[in-house]
Amino acid sequence: MPEPDAGTIARKSEIVAALQAVVPGEGVIFDAEELAAYESDGLTAYRQPPLIVVLPETVEQVSAVLRYCNEQKVKVVPRGAGTSLSGGSLPLADGIILGLGKFNRILDIDYDNRCAVVQPGVTNLGITKAVEHRGFYYAPDPSSQIACSIGGNIAENSGGVHCLKYGLTTNNVLGIELVLMDGTVMRLGGKHLEAEGYDLLGLLTGSEGLLGVVTEVTVRLLRQPATARALLLGFESSEAAGDCVAAVIAAGIIPGGMEMMDRPAIHAAEDFVQAGYPRYVEALLIVELDGPEAEVDYLIFRCSEIAKAKGAVYERVSKNEEERAVFWAGRKAAFPAVGRISPDYYCMDGTIPRHRLPEVLRRMRELSEHYGLRVANVFHAGDGNLHPLILYDANVPGELERCEAFGAEILKLCVEVGGVLTGEHGVGVEKRDLMPSMFSEIDLKQQQRVKCAFDPDHLLNPGKVFPQLHRCAELGRMHIHRGQMPFPDIPRF
Ligand SMILES: Cc1cc2nc3c(=O)[nH]c(=O)nc-3n(C[C@H](O)[C@H](O)[C@H](O)COP(=O)(O)OP(=O)(O)OC[C@H]3O[C@@H](n4cnc5c(N)ncnc54)[C@H](O)[C@@H]3O)c2cc1C
Repeated sequence: MPEPDAGTIARKSEIVAALQAVVPGEGVIFDAEELAAYESDGLTAYRQPPLIVVLPETVEQVSAVLRYCNEQKVKVVPRGAGTSLSGGSLPLADGIILGLGKFNRILDIDYDNRCAVVQPGVTNLGITKAVEHRGFYYAPDPSSQIACSIGGNIAENSGGVHCLKYGLTTNNVLGIELVLMDGTVMRLGGKHLEAEGYDLLGLLTGSEGLLGVVTEVTVRLLRQPATARALLLGFESSEAAGDCVAAVIAAGIIPGGMEMMDRPAIHAAEDFVQAGYPRYVEALLIVELDGPEAEVDYLIFRCSEIAKAKGAVYERVSKNEEERAVFWAGRKAAFPAVGRISPDYYCMDGTIPRHRLPEVLRRMRELSEHYGLRVANVFHAGDGNLHPLILYDANVPGELERCEAFGAEILKLCVEVGGVLTGEHGVGVEKRDLMPSMFSEIDLKQQQRVKCAFDPDHLLNPGKVFPQLHRCAELGRMHIHRGQMPFPDIPRF
């Protein structure tokens, strides 16, 4: 991370007083014990208590906090629920955490226009809960949906089981209000479907808290499908299951969800929630088909045919809603279930072209042997979005480092086969240093110029996403003259 600025740390009391003038009451946290609660996000391998936490309740307060921090050159890390798995909301020793937890109200549910306007701290599942009694839901469904905030979902462009058919966050957000680092409040999109000008909403979605702080969100609501049934398909190898996934999509079928678990994950999930998964298979697919009943029946028949041709040795179709929920319960509990079989695990996130699944799974097994670390695979197979969970023990010296090296190899493998470094968890701190394996220096500089247009002093979530900090003035024209580095005061890390 960037070297903390000792001057800012020395001014802590002054900054606390200024923030208290904006956010009264208990909205400013500065006591070391209380700050400890914010020292990491879902990527708990990295920890750093922040300088201060501020919990505003109004847009005016967010704007005033950012304006002050911009003027005083204080760094700011936005935070929703802190479930990021890439260290996106990891604090800085010389920065404040701007927590959006108090922005937890649903402002408007507009069934006529099939959308809802909510504050960014509302949980992902909270949106569906508010509209399900009328037969609607919000489609992107990260496994963390009970806890993660919609603001965090936008920052990470989060996905989930249903994104194969219904799109990621970016396809389901219609508008946002955001506050820029200088305190300016702006709106992008709204209840209408088309927006004028550049697609800034698209740019902001997935910008990992580096461009602005989201203070209001308008999301699309979908009608719940008439029927949904799940199909369990077991295979003797992960390669055969991967082949089946590619064949189903190639046949023009887009399931509502298509997930894969390998043997270690199947056993862990079965031990944990008794979903009725077959223990003898090497890989299990959960394929959900949804839509009108006749269509679902036909698609189940087609998927079953394809699976048989690819060597499926087990098949079971959910008979009712209860059984469908049980099929999914194992998948949804797979992460905590794996947590029971290993002291620690590291969840990777990369995406590959679907047809390369069998090859990537085979090479991952070879890497697992090379590094001497077990892997459990639970992932969004239909999207080619892999989530290898590398099992390790942080108390064994050197094991975390070995695990990180193994993880980096997996992500490079994803890029090598024509995929990308991340599917839905973001770059954050975790994949920052791997960005050059995906992007050229020209690409990275152009992306940083976008950052400069929003936040010229790099105060919003610095140290995340970009492998090297360039001051905006320096971008693209670095000349070393007689060994003299320009802007020698810039921390380069
Ligand atoms: C068990 C588990 C399962 C998970 N499963 C999935 C999954 O299936 N799919 C998936 O996509 N992710 C998954 N995640 C990752 C995580 O839940 C998502 O990335 C989620 O969107 C993060 O939301 P959050 O509110 O916790 O954000 P945080 O962790 O608080 O922050 C994440 C990023 O968003 C920024 N941010 C937060 N709020 C705002 C805001 N209002 N304005 C601007 N920037 C903001 C932060 O600066 C940070 O960069 C999982 C995590 C866990 C722990």
